Amino acid sequence: MLKGKSAVITGSTSGIGLGIAEALAKSGCDVMLNGFGNADEIEKTRSDLAAATNVKVLYSGADMSKPESVAGMVVEAQEAFGKLDILVNNAGIQHVAPIEDFPDARYDAIIAINMSSNWHAIKAALPMMKERNWGRIINVASAHGLVASPYKSAYVMAKHGAVGLTKTIALEVAETNITCNAICPGYVRTPLVEGQIGQQAAAHGMTEEQVIRDVLLASQPNKKFVETGELGALAVFLCSDLAASITGIALPVDGGWTAH
Ligand code: NAD
Repeated sequence: MLKGKSAVITGSTSGIGLGIAEALAKSGCDVMLNGFGNADEIEKTRSDLAAATNVKVLYSGADMSKPESVAGMVVEAQEAFGKLDILVNNAGIQHVAPIEDFPDARYDAIIAINMSSNWHAIKAALPMMKERNWGRIINVASAHGLVASPYKSAYVMAKHGAVGLTKTIALEVAETNITCNAICPGYVRTPLVEGQIGQQAAAHGMTEEQVIRDVLLASQPNKKFVETGELGALAVFLCSDLAASITGIALPVDGGWTAH
């Protein structure tokens, strides 16, 4: 479906980003992975995906908290693939604390990685997409881009910002064949959420099972984690020509959470 296309997926060494990268690669799209982790494990992920899909799979270790690295990674992808058709802004981190106790450095990092990196990557990628009059931009926001939860002030702020950016870019490029959309997942059981399960269990004196059902999935009516494969399939559809008229949306994939 996406044969001949090329994509950068930020934060794709694990979790949702990796799920999206796998789905794009399985659809025939060349992909550039990005993110942190153990160098040998990343290389194994890269080479396994290339062998399984027969597409080009590259890797950039660019730090999404640094604007010049974000723009540099987009240029590197354009040079390596000869063009860049798809940009998935997915890298993200979390910190949970009441605002009075929230460390300034964690706030700055969340805003930089979860929100500003989207802006810098889109700014760098758009000229090439406009030149070829085709592009797909997907910002992985969150249900927290649409509604709030306490103690996640920086995250909720950054994700609402990512949704606002999505709408603005969609309007700026509306007369081209470029679309810009946000995916807003509910809880997905990735390393980012595993960390919260442990923290919350300790904070509330609960078992991990209690935290999953009564804290994390308290707002998610279907009481099930979203699977990364569901998000990958959605990303592939949004990148297809059949999704040409879908732009500027923030689509919840949240088991009914934001229907409340
Ligand atoms: P994860 O921790 O599994 O993956 C995060 C990825 O981002 C990793 O590849 C990590 O190396 C990378 N990353 C972190 N800091 C980076 C930096 N400075 N530069 C480059 N890469 C960096 O988390 P995940 O749950 O897969 O989250 C992916 C995205 O989905 C995030 O934006 C997150 O906010 C969003 N999201 C997650 C959930 C969930 O429940 N897991 C729900 C809604 C939205």
